[in-house]
Amino acid sequence: MASAQKILVIEDEPDIRKLVQYNLTQEHFNVVEAEDGEQALSLLQREKPNLVILDLMLPGLSGLELCKMLRQRSDTSRLPILMLTAKAGEADRIVGLEMGADDYLAKPFSPREMVARVRAILRRAESKPALETAVSYEKGPLKIDFSTYEVFVREKPVKLTLKEFELLRFLVQNPSRVLNRDQLLDRVWGGETFVTPRTVDVHIRRLRKAIEKDDRKPKWILTVRGVGYKLDEKAVE
Ligand code: CA
Repeated sequence: MASAQKILVIEDEPDIRKLVQYNLTQEHFNVVEAEDGEQALSLLQREKPNLVILDLMLPGLSGLELCKMLRQRSDTSRLPILMLTAKAGEADRIVGLEMGADDYLAKPFSPREMVARVRAILRRAESKPALETAVSYEKGPLKIDFSTYEVFVREKPVKLTLKEFELLRFLVQNPSRVLNRDQLLDRVWGGETFVTPRTVDVHIRRLRKAIEKDDRKPKWILTVRGVGYKLDEKAVE
């Protein structure tokens, strides 16, 4: 058996921390606990967890601030994060996803649901490296050759600018994951100046025009209101 995957639980309420710890240990995960952001940061370096369960409401450094920090640091930028929120409110969910959390769970949650989410996020994270080094992508009518920058939809070649191509590449590398405009800007435009979140919208529109059957009713590249975009890989299939 492969060595147990390690999960860092960052939660100030001891009861919830214990509940999470107990249920994950039952499922053979290795659990490390932190009661605030500062403690979490020092544990992260030493423990190198595979996933973080992060409470939104923490004393001191908030869950959101910590999430943002983790996404900005190169060693943790891809570390899977499951956010715990006290309220099931839309605003909390959107803010969490915007800050780069992979998923969120509203309290009170069932331990089984929590374990299921953890497994799903880890599965998704594991399948990523292969996608990143893949030389081509093929799902349903969509074919992309990353080495020659060619894209085909229903066997027909599609002309894309380099930015549109990079945008499409990032979307297919993160199937069904909500990507916010800042992430897309970072990834596709890097440190370029004079680009704004609007730039992303404009390029998404052009990309849809190029690959969607009806770009006014996009089925593949979906808008997640208030957050950003995601590729619905099921629809592509
Ligand atoms: Ca809390």
